[in-house]
Amino acid sequence: MNQQNFHKFFTLYFIVFGIIISCFSVIVAYTFEIKDIEIDLNRKAKEIFQIKNETILKPTFENIDNIAKSLAYDNLTKKFLIERNSLNKENLNNIFLAVANSNSIIMQARLIDKSGQELVRVDRNKENQQAFIVGEKDLQNKYHRDYFQSISKLNEKEIWHSKLDLNIEHGKIEIPYRPTIRVGIALFENNQFSAMVVINLLTNNLFKSLASSSIFDCYIIDENKNYILHPNQEFAFNKYKNIARDISIDFPDGLNNGIFTFSLKDSLKNEDNAILILKTKKDYKKELLKERTNVAVIVFLLTVALSFIMAIFVSKTPRILQEKLLKANKKLNEFTLIIDKYVITVTTKIDSTIVEASKAFEQISGYSKEELIGKKISIISNPKQDKMIIKELWKTILDKKIWEGEIQNKSKDGKDYWLNQYIIPKKNAKNDSIEQFISVGVDITAKKELEKFASIDKLTGIYNRRMLDTFLQKEIEVAKRHKDNLSLIIIDIDFFKLVNDTYGHLVGDNVLKQLSKIISENIRISDIFGRYGGEEFLIICTKTSEDSAFILAEKLRKEIENFRFEKVGYKTISLGISSLKKDDNIELLFKKADEALYGAKKSGRNKSIIYR
Ligand code: GH3
Ligand code: MG
Ligand code: MG
Repeated sequence: MNQQNFHKFFTLYFIVFGIIISCFSVIVAYTFEIKDIEIDLNRKAKEIFQIKNETILKPTFENIDNIAKSLAYDNLTKKFLIERNSLNKENLNNIFLAVANSNSIIMQARLIDKSGQELVRVDRNKENQQAFIVGEKDLQNKYHRDYFQSISKLNEKEIWHSKLDLNIEHGKIEIPYRPTIRVGIALFENNQFSAMVVINLLTNNLFKSLASSSIFDCYIIDENKNYILHPNQEFAFNKYKNIARDISIDFPDGLNNGIFTFSLKDSLKNEDNAILILKTKKDYKKELLKERTNVAVIVFLLTVALSFIMAIFVSKTPRILQEKLLKANKKLNEFTLIIDKYVITVTTKIDSTIVEASKAFEQISGYSKEELIGKKISIISNPKQDKMIIKELWKTILDKKIWEGEIQNKSKDGKDYWLNQYIIPKKNAKNDSIEQFISVGVDITAKKELEKFASIDKLTGIYNRRMLDTFLQKEIEVAKRHKDNLSLIIIDIDFFKLVNDTYGHLVGDNVLKQLSKIISENIRISDIFGRYGGEEFLIICTKTSEDSAFILAEKLRKEIENFRFEKVGYKTISLGISSLKKDDNIELLFKKADEALYGAKKSGRNKSIIYR
């Protein structure tokens, strides 16, 4: 990804983030709003029911109950029942008329005797018209009507309310429909039922005021789920009209969801066991939802817009960091490539199995990575390598220390190469045990090659073997030509291996250096002194007899014997001496001195022996 893309990516990232957050919060808020609507509607429904019940239904029926009682217990009623003369009747008629006119919902008020015969009756044709007294000839016998039967069985002072139904006149439902309820009370004479007062109420207006709500559709059903009240007039009193109407048509989800029911038992003391159902008007709910949805949409759009602006700002920091990281990573990659290409590194497990090797390592060793990985590091070891050094190397790194030194290796095609190596033990962070060894090396083959042609021994600063050989060859020729003496002393340190084993290679090196210095200081300028090999030294003593050479050897032996080496303490040397004879060549002269040295070693060391 380039920088431009990162910018886009981060901005988009935060925008998406913002949108997700706004979606989430809007959904949560919206859900709460919807719940809130339900709670609100429930509260409103309860309020409406309470108001309608307390201010319309209850007072209306209480009022009518009182009217019925006042007619029943009026003295004129009693009087008329005892003495049914025309005066008493006229008085009673007037009372009934006055009472009927006092309340416009009273459609009929009657006094009926125990045989069912109407004695007094006032009627009203329409709510807004005056009531009138029904003439003698129009009075009917109501013995067989349900209400007569029900009222005649009442106890004293008990009040009866009929079911809510449609008015029936001369055996037929009156049209236009007149929803009616009857209130009845029985009269007693000597504890015997003697007559009844029946009041018919027109409930049209009552229901109209019940049903008027801008929020809810109002229904009233009886205990058999027949409609008494229905927003569609046609279905009100469906039982009486012989119209089937299943309530599941109006309430497909039952009477729970967003529908509120209230028992009217408290006000209507009849056998309907009526229930008022308030169902939220579709339009009202839609309007509410629309309102809340609009708010939600506006909030959502605002948050999204805000998240756009925020995204641009907020994405800046990670973008800058990302850019920096990218640059740093690029640099690191470059360095890694350079290191891989130019630094000879190899990583091994503790058992010396190769796990990683750099390109530079591949190049110098001649092996490809595939050939190296999984193999032991010994794949590159050189038989010429001093085993002591390797031993010490292992001791150091297993001791969790870094080892540094020169190692001679062998490449795939058999060539020797030298590395100056650092071997670093990599520890396990948890338990401090060694996990891997990382070896970093510098190619010193060229330097080593050069050293071969040099005349000075690098460690001690005295002549090397190559130089000693050259000098010896030349001095033999000169001595032979001039018939001069020439002696050779070979010096070998006693038990030198022990020094390395006890104190390490570096301390051993130091002994070699100190010893070279002591010998250099105790010989003549004409003597040629050099290091012939490991811990073996050679002195070419020109113009020196066997005996003089022996005296020198003894002097040197004692010098060393009495010298206290740093750390190591006292060491001794053994010396072999040979002198040039007429037929000797370089090899023979050398062999003789070596044999003498062997003799010195054999006879107990710390000795100088002349070849005989
Ligand atoms: P002796 O000669 O008395 O028989 O015993 P030695 O222990 O000296 O004999 P040996 O020849 O077996 O051991 C010589 C040792 O010298 C072995 C080798 O590791 C060590 N050596 C050779 N060259 C060097 C060097 O450059 N530096 C150090 N520190 N040790 C070296
Ligand atoms: Mg030796
Ligand atoms: Mg030795």
